[in-house]
Amino acid sequence: MAGDASNRDLPPVDVAVIGSGIAGLFLALRCFRAGLSVAIITKKSLSTSSTNWAQGGIAGVLDVDNQAALEAHVQDTIASGGGLCDEQVVRSVVYEAASRIKDLVDQGVQFDLSAEGIYDLTREGGHSEHRILHSRDRTGAEIERALTEGAADEYESGLRIFEDWMVLDLVRRDLQRPEKGVAGLWCLAPDGKVYTLASRCVVLASGGAGMLHLATTNPPVSTGDGVAMAHRVGADISDMEFIQFHPTALAIDSQHPFLITEAMRGHGAILLTRSEYKEWKHTDGFPSDFSYMNRYSTKGSLDTRDVVARATDTELKKSGDSHVLLVTEHLDVQEIREEFPTIANKLAEYGIDLG
Ligand SMILES: Cc1cc2nc3c(=O)[nH]c(=O)nc-3n(C[C@H](O)[C@H](O)[C@H](O)COP(=O)(O)OP(=O)(O)OC[C@H]3O[C@@H](n4cnc5c(N)ncnc54)[C@H](O)[C@@H]3O)c2cc1C
Repeated sequence: MAGDASNRDLPPVDVAVIGSGIAGLFLALRCFRAGLSVAIITKKSLSTSSTNWAQGGIAGVLDVDNQAALEAHVQDTIASGGGLCDEQVVRSVVYEAASRIKDLVDQGVQFDLSAEGIYDLTREGGHSEHRILHSRDRTGAEIERALTEGAADEYESGLRIFEDWMVLDLVRRDLQRPEKGVAGLWCLAPDGKVYTLASRCVVLASGGAGMLHLATTNPPVSTGDGVAMAHRVGADISDMEFIQFHPTALAIDSQHPFLITEAMRGHGAILLTRSEYKEWKHTDGFPSDFSYMNRYSTKGSLDTRDVVARATDTELKKSGDSHVLLVTEHLDVQEIREEFPTIANKLAEYGIDLG
């Protein structure tokens, strides 16, 4: 798909959406179906995004009448946030989750079902209950598939999609007065020229900034462009210190290590240092009894990412080892290979058998 520009001013739209991950596509489809004119501008192909790489799943309490379950999700989130969460935001996210997940299902997203035909819910770090919907270990790709198909359908009806167009900056209404807001954006087209798109509203859905780090599990498009653009037009930026680190990725020599989803720990995988692994192999006990994580958390290997990442970093600094082990040998091999086919295939490329 391409833009229909014949001069350097593109036809104006009501809503210009920067980015085509879950945030951008979801909102663009909602606005377009509500009768607004919408353009999606995305710097690579439509599906290129962190969303497409997400593995483990999406959390939510689906039974909106189950007040105790909703409240437990709120409390788990607040506890995981170490007292830094905005409770109002937590409540709105938890209480709206069922409706938004239903929107995704209505859009065609297929989450895995159990043998009984109900959603197969898994558990991840910080959750006291099983409440993660997933599509094997490629949940994000399934969500992105459904949303990009929705966008392709609406393209026929006038949704404008600019692939390989990179937004460079936002256009201020009044250069001297940032509070007047923005009137559109400038973007670099595949022909190497810069075009202007006027819009009543600009939505920054350009994802994170993982590429700021030497090694990251994020895709190369995660370069923080939206935050930088917002800063340049005078927006207040907050909470930039909150960077989430995935604690478990394949320990290969690469700046783009492959994520091993925390759903694997939710499934029973245990973190051990190399010496703990040797100790465990000399006994017939459970690997969890030997894990360094017990010294850092009562939740063991299934604590939140910040706790697990810090504990692992501390252990590696103490031992000088290059990596720790995520042990799955005690689990049902058949079952984990079925649950995590993407990871099993990736490991096989490196000669590692999952299980
Ligand atoms: C490996 C991995 C696994 C994950 N697993 C999970 C999980 O299991 N569960 C979970 O809840 N979360 C998970 N996450 C996090 C989750 O994927 C993200 O929080 C979410 O997808 C972000 O969606 P988004 O739409 O905001 O951004 P993204 O999906 O990153 O989309 C950003 C879009 O903006 C575009 N863009 C950026 N800059 C520009 C520009 N200048 N001009 C035009 N376009 C631009 C990009 O090309 C991209 O299309 C995971 C993330 C990664 C990387």
